[in-house]
Amino acid sequence: MEHQNETKNMDFIENEKNHVDGFRGNYDDCAWAKPPEPIPEAQIAGTLETEVLIIGGGIAGMAAGARCTDLGLRCTVLEKYHGLVGRGAHIACTDSPVMRRLGVHIDKKQFARDWMRICGSRVNEDLLWLYINNCSDAVQWLTDLGGDAVELRLFGGRYKGPDFTEYDGTHYLIQKPGSKRYKNRAGSLLMCEILQDRCLEGTGNRIIRSTKALYLEKNDAGRVVSAVAECEDGKYRRFRGSRAVILATGDIGSNAEMVRTFCPIGLLPKRNGYAPQVPDPNEPGTKIGLNTGDGHRMAYWVGGQFETPSWALSLHLLAYSIYVFFFLFVNREGKRFMNEDTWVQAKAVRCLMQPRGDFAYTVFDSKWFRELGERISITGGQFTEPLIMDYGDPWREDNGIDRQIERYVQHGTCFKADTLEELAEKMEVPVETFKATVARYNELYALGEDLDYGKRSELLTSIAEPPFYALKWGPALLNVHGGMITDTSMRVLDNDNRPIPGLYAVGNVAGGLYGVDYPLLWNGNSHSRAITWARQAVQAIRNAAE
Ligand SMILES: Cc1cc2nc3c(=O)[nH]c(=O)nc-3n(C[C@H](O)[C@H](O)[C@H](O)COP(=O)(O)OP(=O)(O)OC[C@H]3O[C@@H](n4cnc5c(N)ncnc54)[C@H](O)[C@@H]3O)c2cc1C
Repeated sequence: MEHQNETKNMDFIENEKNHVDGFRGNYDDCAWAKPPEPIPEAQIAGTLETEVLIIGGGIAGMAAGARCTDLGLRCTVLEKYHGLVGRGAHIACTDSPVMRRLGVHIDKKQFARDWMRICGSRVNEDLLWLYINNCSDAVQWLTDLGGDAVELRLFGGRYKGPDFTEYDGTHYLIQKPGSKRYKNRAGSLLMCEILQDRCLEGTGNRIIRSTKALYLEKNDAGRVVSAVAECEDGKYRRFRGSRAVILATGDIGSNAEMVRTFCPIGLLPKRNGYAPQVPDPNEPGTKIGLNTGDGHRMAYWVGGQFETPSWALSLHLLAYSIYVFFFLFVNREGKRFMNEDTWVQAKAVRCLMQPRGDFAYTVFDSKWFRELGERISITGGQFTEPLIMDYGDPWREDNGIDRQIERYVQHGTCFKADTLEELAEKMEVPVETFKATVARYNELYALGEDLDYGKRSELLTSIAEPPFYALKWGPALLNVHGGMITDTSMRVLDNDNRPIPGLYAVGNVAGGLYGVDYPLLWNGNSHSRAITWARQAVQAIRNAAE
């Protein structure tokens, strides 16, 4: 008995030893975590006052600014880039007038279960339900701000396989033909422009570009009250937010050291899809995205808590081509490596797991376009169908995919040959291995069953009729989704789970909604999450002010 107690105590001591500092962990040893020396007071050229200081002018920051206008709060947005920032096209929500018109319904409970499963349950379910229950209002609000000039449409390209189900909630916003109200025709830049215009309608609101926030400041009571920034003229200034400071600085995807700490698999893709890219101050001659984790670090320095790694990364298959399909996938050793019948994120991750996995090939023969069309209703999805298409659009022979593949042949990202030997040589894979791979695939096709990887029989096709094609595709990193722990008012929490007074985080700098893998249950969840969080934070600031 005595011996058992002793063992228990020892276990207890062992756990204590391994226990990290709260959930936050201690990153002080990481070079990126080192705080900068404060700028000497004499070098601070002035102080600008506002009520809500928003750092970062992407979709989350612009949405926060626009919401400030709605709720009568004065704001200033600081943005380190010189222009409007945005990328991609899609925005997702569970319900919309166009969905209702088309009779499309999303089962929120099933959606939440799928989200939790993909994210390994490393999600704050309060935040998840906040998102699920409020994203539709957020998208409607954005659409209403655009008024008569814009139209919200339901996207039609989703993966229709038996597993990893994607939901029909992806939308895209376009400017109506003939409208000249906005400079941007569609997608995220249009959304950001709408939000920017609304932000600037508020009395005293400003968007100050080419201005990089360096660190946050607290007052004696421990409240975050200001940020010091380097402005376009090279001078340092203090920007004070009397009611709140909102971080909207995006993710860490272009900060390799932070990616190494929080999501090492994010170092594997050779291409970074984030736009815009700017010259890297640390490596002359190279470029990086704006998403360098500045807000994450600023929050950490004032005591903010990071969510536990490993964070989720989002990947798109656009490093070499924008089509991937479901035909035979071959790695750089000339071997098949996966069940090709799956969604974008899974294809990207499986490719990265291969030796020299920055790209792979889809191999098909001259029948491919017909075979694709015949199977589109049971497969499809992004990188298999056109990027812009409406819900319910039928397969069209003139959709341009075949022409695009021929363009890839011209540009050298798709190889075409009359024999498998010649194709293997162009692909730079071992000829005999490749021929054996194709022979085995044809054998499985003849058998009508994929004994090797379990692909649905309906998606097996033969590779028999020349010319043969090998389309090169590879994952590009979009974002690394993880950040500061917040409550449902988007207040950043400290290591004891208490809100840091005055500090909020919205968009990708905020954690809690993603984990392990990116739930591409629909395209566009990042944008609607950014807007939903921004509205939530500003409402909380408004409520706190009353
Ligand atoms: C190629 C690509 C396509 C995508 N397509 C889609 C899509 O279709 N749908 C979707 O939902 N998502 C998409 N995404 C993801 C989406 O772009 C982001 O998740 C989303 O924009 C995040 O918004 P954000 O405002 O949090 O961050 P960001 O858009 O990254 O904005 C952050 C801003 O903060 C600024 N900033 C950072 N640090 C500072 C500082 N120190 N001082 C001042 N300013 C600072 C940055 O310059 C940047 O402008 C795509 C991503 C990529 C890369």
